[in-house]
Amino acid sequence: MRIILFGPPGSGKGTQGELIQSKYGFPKISTGDLLRQEVAAGTPLGRKAAAQMKKGGLVKDDLVVEMMKERIFKEDCRVGYVLDGFPRNIFQARELEAADGQRKEIAIDIQLPEKIIVERLLARRVCPECESILNLSLTKPKQEGICDHCGTELIRREDDTLEVIEERLKVYHQQTKPLVGYYREKNTYRRIDGSGGIQAVSRQIYALLEAAMANHSEKEARK
Ligand code: AMP
Repeated sequence: MRIILFGPPGSGKGTQGELIQSKYGFPKISTGDLLRQEVAAGTPLGRKAAAQMKKGGLVKDDLVVEMMKERIFKEDCRVGYVLDGFPRNIFQARELEAADGQRKEIAIDIQLPEKIIVERLLARRVCPECESILNLSLTKPKQEGICDHCGTELIRREDDTLEVIEERLKVYHQQTKPLVGYYREKNTYRRIDGSGGIQAVSRQIYALLEAAMANHSEKEARK
């Protein structure tokens, strides 16, 4: 099973990916997290990616696709995986299909109004240590400014500024939105309302996943 979470930046893909990972055991793979780790470690890939990430543009396809191919063929992805932030354009979607096309797939588009997106991104804090995501407009940490999971000081992502958010939204509309048509055509597209609280959104996702898994087991049983 491949679960693709897509939707604009700030729609809750990372948070929902973490919840799916703990509930169903599919590892959450976030290209943004993987790239940020490369940047922090100062690797050649990180050095190539840093400038685009800082200004909210997309990192070159060949770099991201290579990184993803390596990740999705690791042992923990054998039964399934959740993608957060990949594919970001049609080219990447085709590469994913070419590399791992046999897998059952569901692409969940988490939609919400642009005004809420901007508010959420400005209120987002992340943990640089364990990569937890927290939104101050939805949840407060137990201790102000501190990660509930590992006690590290929470930070604001460098690209969560108004100027870079606007650029990321522009890139989303131009490059990522066409994926709606791509996944509709494959009949794997599902759209949900992401404007409610975390649990309201995850309830919709779990219902879709459970329907997809039941359908899959039925087909397998009929083979
Ligand atoms: P995210 O954490 O998903 O918001 O991604 C942060 C940044 O990483 C993006 O603004 C891009 O610069 C880069 N990035 C993440 N995923 C991709 C991708 N699939 N293709 C190209 N660039 C990406």
